[in-house]
This record gives sequence, C-alpha cells and structure tokens, in this order.
Amino acid sequence: MNESMRTEASIARVVIDVRTRALDEPFDYAIPAPLAHQVSIGCPVLVPLGGRRAVGFVVGLGNESRYDNLKPIESVLGESLSRADAYELARWIADEYASPLAEAMRLFLPPGGTPKVVRRESDGVVTWDLVRPSVSAAEDRVVTLLDSAFEPRAGARLQRSIIDALRMGPVTSGELAVEFGAVAAALKTLEQRGAIEVTARRRWRGESGRAREDTAHTLTKAQSAAVETIAASAGAVVVLEGVTGSGKTEVYLRAIERTLGAGRDAIVLVPEISLTPQTVGRFRARFGNLVAVLHSRLSVGERFDQWSLVAQGDAKVVVGARSALFAPVRDLGLIIIDEEHEASYKQGSAPRYHARDVAAHIAHDSDITVVLGSATPSMEARAAVDEGRWVSARLPERVTAHGLPEVRVVDMGAEFGDGNRSMFSSVMSDAIDAVSDRKSKGVLFLNRRGFASFLLCRECGFVPRCQNCSVSLTYHERGDRLTCHHCGHTEPTPVSCPRCQSPYLRRFGAGTQRVEDEIHARWPELPVVRMDADTTSGKGGHERALAAFEDLASGLLLGTQMVAKGLDYPEVTLVGVINADTTMHLPDFRAAERTYQLLEQVSGRAGRGEDPGLVVIQTYWPDHPAIRAVAARDAEILYTEERELRSSVGWAPYRRIANIVISGENSATVTSHSVVLGEALSEALPDGWEVLGPSDAALARVKRAYRRHIVLKAPPGAALGPYVRAVLARCPAPPGVAVAPDIDPMDFL
Ligand code: ADP
Ligand code: ZN
Ligand code: ZN
Repeated sequence: MNESMRTEASIARVVIDVRTRALDEPFDYAIPAPLAHQVSIGCPVLVPLGGRRAVGFVVGLGNESRYDNLKPIESVLGESLSRADAYELARWIADEYASPLAEAMRLFLPPGGTPKVVRRESDGVVTWDLVRPSVSAAEDRVVTLLDSAFEPRAGARLQRSIIDALRMGPVTSGELAVEFGAVAAALKTLEQRGAIEVTARRRWRGESGRAREDTAHTLTKAQSAAVETIAASAGAVVVLEGVTGSGKTEVYLRAIERTLGAGRDAIVLVPEISLTPQTVGRFRARFGNLVAVLHSRLSVGERFDQWSLVAQGDAKVVVGARSALFAPVRDLGLIIIDEEHEASYKQGSAPRYHARDVAAHIAHDSDITVVLGSATPSMEARAAVDEGRWVSARLPERVTAHGLPEVRVVDMGAEFGDGNRSMFSSVMSDAIDAVSDRKSKGVLFLNRRGFASFLLCRECGFVPRCQNCSVSLTYHERGDRLTCHHCGHTEPTPVSCPRCQSPYLRRFGAGTQRVEDEIHARWPELPVVRMDADTTSGKGGHERALAAFEDLASGLLLGTQMVAKGLDYPEVTLVGVINADTTMHLPDFRAAERTYQLLEQVSGRAGRGEDPGLVVIQTYWPDHPAIRAVAARDAEILYTEERELRSSVGWAPYRRIANIVISGENSATVTSHSVVLGEALSEALPDGWEVLGPSDAALARVKRAYRRHIVLKAPPGAALGPYVRAVLARCPAPPGVAVAPDIDPMDFL
C-alpha cells in the first residue's frame, strides 16, 4: 500500500509518540527533498522536538501549513506497517475512550511496542536505526533443535510449515510440544531423518475430529440462512446467536470464503484463552498459508513476522485476540468476533476500547461486514438488535446429535437448614459418587472472583444490596461496613439477616484449595487436577493441566472460570458448579448477565459424548433469573428481567456509563483530586447526565495505591468520551496521582 502513497508533498503531519495529553495534535514538519521518496503515511520518522529528538508517525501529507519555518524530518525510520485508516481510527478511539492520541496510535503499530532508535556513527556519518523487536529464546531453541532440518534437502515448503507449526505450540524446556495436526506428517519425516527427537506424544482429543477436517460441510438450513444474511449485510453488524456446537464456526468459514473470493481480507477475533491450536487449526485447514495468527503467547518476533505477512498482503485472514483488530490488512471486508459477550474484548489499559464497538464503528459508513457470534449475546448486542440497529441471525439447534445435559439446581440454604454444613450438597455428593463408581470424569467449577467479599445469609441466601443501584454491597473489614461501589452508599453491617433474622450472616467464598482438601477427605481414591491462576501460571500451564486431566482414566478437574472455556471431552459426564452465587453478587450491574453466561458455558461442557451428562448447580438463590434461565434453557427469562431492571435503574445499554478511577499512594491527594474532578465533571453537565461519587473504588487499595472513582451516566449515544477527555485535559492530575477514565466499562474494579 505504500507505493501508491509515495509523495512529492513537502509537509508531513506527524503524531509524536509521547504519552501526554499536551501533545495530542499532529505537528507539521518539512520533508527534506532527499527524503521525499521515502515518506509515506504511517511510516515512523525521527523529528526534532524542543531541543530533543522524538519518534513520530506520519499521519498526513500536504503542501501547506499554518506555520512558518517548519523544522525538517530528520530521518525516515522504516516502511509503514500500519493500515491506511490507522490515523482516522486512532482519532476516533482517542475521542470515544478519552485517551491520549499517541496511546491510540500505538494500537496500529507493529508488535514490539514503541520503536527504539539507535544512533550509529561511522566515519563521521550518523545514521539512525529503528530497533527491530527481538526474537524470543524459545524460538532460538526451536531453530537449534531443528538445525539439521534446514539442510537444502529438507525442502523449502517443509521447513516453512514446520516453522509455522512450531510457532503455534508452546515450547517447554527440552521438549517440543507440537499440538498442530496439519504438520504431523512433516514432523514424522523429520523424526525419521533424525532432525528432531520426539520425547513425548500427546493426542489432543479435540483435534482428532477437528483440526484435520478440511472439507466444508453441507450447510444446514439455518447455517445457509445465516451465511446469506451475512452476505447481504455490507456495512452492518450481524449478531449470530447459536449454542456451542450449532455450527457458528462453519458459518464464519463460509463468510470468509466469500470475502476472499471478492479479493478482500478478513479479521477473526477470538478470546485469547480460546486461541488454541485446535481453533487456529480449523482456519488453517481451510485457508492454509493465507492465515496469520496474532496473540500474546507468541514472542514479539513471531508476532512481528505475522504482522508483516499481513502488511505485505501475503496473509489475508488474520486470526487473533482483541488487538488483531488493528492488523495492517489491505482491503478489509469482514470482521468476525467470536464469543462477542466476553469481557476480554475490552482493553484493561489505555486506550480502554471495546473491540466490538470499534468494529461496529468501522462497519458504519463502509461496506465492511461485522459478525458477532455468541451462545449468549451481550445485553448490548441484544439491545442493538431490539432497536433495529444490528441484524439478527440464529442457529437454534446443535448440528451434532447430542442432547443437551440435564440441569439440576440445588438450594444451598435449604441444605444448610437440613443440617448439611458441607460445601457439597447431597445431589452433588451423589453425582461425584457416580463419577467415582462409573470411572468417568467430572468438572467442578468454583466460581471465584477473588477480591470483593459480600455477606450472605447461610439460611435464606439473602445478600444486602444497594437501594439506589440494585447492586450487591461489598463488605469492608475496615469499619465493618457495607459499601455500594457504584454510588458510594455505605451502611453498617447488620448483625442478623434483615430478611429471616438468622444469625448466620457470613462472608462468602471458598478457595480451590479448600474444595480440593474436602474432596480428598471424602473421596480419597478419586484423582483431582486443579486448574486455577495459582496452578497454571507460566507458559503452557493451562495446557499442562488439561493434559493431566486428559491422561486420567477417571477423576475430577477442579478449577475457576478458566475451565469454562473450550473444554471438549466426551467422557465428562458431570459438571458441578460449587457456588453459582459469587458472580451474582459482583459489585457490578452486569452481575446477573455474567452469571448466566458463565453457567451456560460450563453447562455446555457436559454431555458431549454418548452419555447425556448432568449439570449440578449449587446456589443460595435458586430463583435468580440467571439460574432459572440456565435450568430452563431459555435466555429470555434472564433478558426480560435485565431489560426492565437496567432501564429502570439506569444502566448500560440503556444509559452510557463512564468510570473514572483516581489513584495514588497519598490518600489525601487522591481524595482531593477526586473532589476536583467530581466538581469539574458536574460543572457544565448536560441535561439528563449524572455524576455519582467520588467514592472508594471496589478495590479501594491495591498494593500501596489508594483508589477512588467517579461514575458518570449519560443517555445512550451521548458523546461521553469527548466530554471526559476535555475535563481531564482541563484538570491535570497533581504529581503522584493517576487518572484512568473507562468509557463503557466492563467492570468496576
Ligand atoms: P460452534 O462454532 O457453534 O461451536 P462448530 O462450527 O464448531 O459449532 O460445529 C460443531 C461441530 O459440528 C464441528 O465438529 C463441525 O465440524 C460440525 N459441523 C458444523 N456444521 C456442520 C454441518 N452443516 N453438518 C455436519 N457437521 C457440521
Ligand atoms: Zn436470611
Ligand atoms: Zn448504589
């Protein structure tokens, strides 16, 4: 794309790569004649900036400037590896999410972060080099291991496919874990030639039926209809709703085929945790070398290579995590976002963009199609469909013959009343007994979201909630008080249950360790594999835990949220949810929705084989709409209630929300700046907008930082970002205080 943009322009508009709100506009620089043929939109340049040198990116070219005596660009640091609309999109993101422009620009830069500039001098000639991202040690080791595979005889294609394949799988010390069906044959050849030594083989269950599949299925009626809807929706957003196994991925593949057929490119976003070799394998099996993969488990060097393939037009299908949305595709025709409801599509640091909403913006005013796939579409997607802004397509049934598992809900309050003080109800105990007796496997899901604790009545399940916000109150040891993390309301902790007067009003939550201990005590013969943040840290930890579970003849997998994703083992007959309540009582207005999505997802893990499977859900709130919706397999039960509640109390998607977190080590300055900001935000507040707080954030103290926050509510469609951005620009934070605006937040930590 760079050739056509080469220019005879004399002036370049340059965004300086510095994270300060003061440099938020592009600066004009003169293009010296010798550099004219090198300067193009998107390329990194070295420019003088107030007596120093800075790296910047060319975002515009022209022949006129409002300023005289422009300083010249000092050197051009490389080719543009960003896409043509990068600046336009970055501007929109900076405005929409109240972030500095340079932060938004970085999204579009090749992997490796901010380029570093190295000065070299030889024979009096000074040159500046852009330092390329380094290649990781893991990759070095792979190359060493395969040294003999790189003889001329090995064949270029073979080498290429091996390199590609190795990039997909984790490489652990001394061992090569290749979990990628497509190159199995190539590896075998290599082994025979003595180029590699295979020390352990492991078959991926999901792969045996999937990754090797490379022929398209005959589409079901619903799938065909969905493909047609997508084809007819240029410039629109299509919400594809279908349970796991309903054939969504097949629909994606067809839509991509059509896009490629029209000579255009596609981007497929998948939650990071679902970006397994199996997932990627399905795209590779269909589109081969046209696929580039981008995610954070690749080394910077590997990502850089993939990025370059896209920029050069060699790869036309980008499969990746959230940030792959900004890959340098040449002619984007289709964006697919799988598991659209996942909170991980929202970036947790500046710019706090939501990939779904950026994608929708990209589609708007263009002929690009966006497909949002999910078994449990977000309230945002539903509202957009309800209002006719987005298009709906449905896959109502599983393609495969398996029935859906039976769901049994257990009222833990009643269990407690009957004298069962254990964390396992009698239904759950019986189900675990059955796993043990029948030598099958079970997955136990401990719903833990660590930080915030709430009070729960062990007898009636009551949890104190905020009268203003209808959100669970969080328990704070300091002062023994309950606090609302949306509006700041606080009250003393009651001594007995306000509903049933029981004295058993307790802090809620059990760790995986405690559950594991109890399992060992009661089922000493039953092997347990634990999978949580503690046991799976480090590269490949997640895969190792899954492999250990897979190697068991019979046993339990015990884990947190992460077991909910993508597990596909036919021999799992039991899925047990130990405590459905934790997510229900998150200090977050999306608590009910999240609970439903999680429960629906874990339930999908049972009954994938011959055995129909059983799902046991333990809860103190059996008639919570999320529980009823999962039990009845009817999402509408939840959504009907949520629509009512959110529109009456005033939460997204019926109001736009901003959450502004003010933090720092000195509590007095944090508090006083939060007051300053609160006042500044309230000052010229448009009609129908509200400012809540400042109050303590849900995580009131992290490490040594104090955290306060302000919540802003506005009507849907309001220009919230630009408003917040302007106020923050007017009220610079004092030293030691950080201000993090989050527009359309996905959590309130
Ligand atoms: P989802 O993405 O909704 O979970 P998949 O696309 O993975 O569903 O489909 C589930 C399984 O059904 C896969 O093994 C897939 O190969 C298979 N499948 C998809 N579409 C069809 C079809 N039309 N006929 C037969 N099998 C299909
Ligand atoms: Zn009670
Ligand atoms: Zn409140």
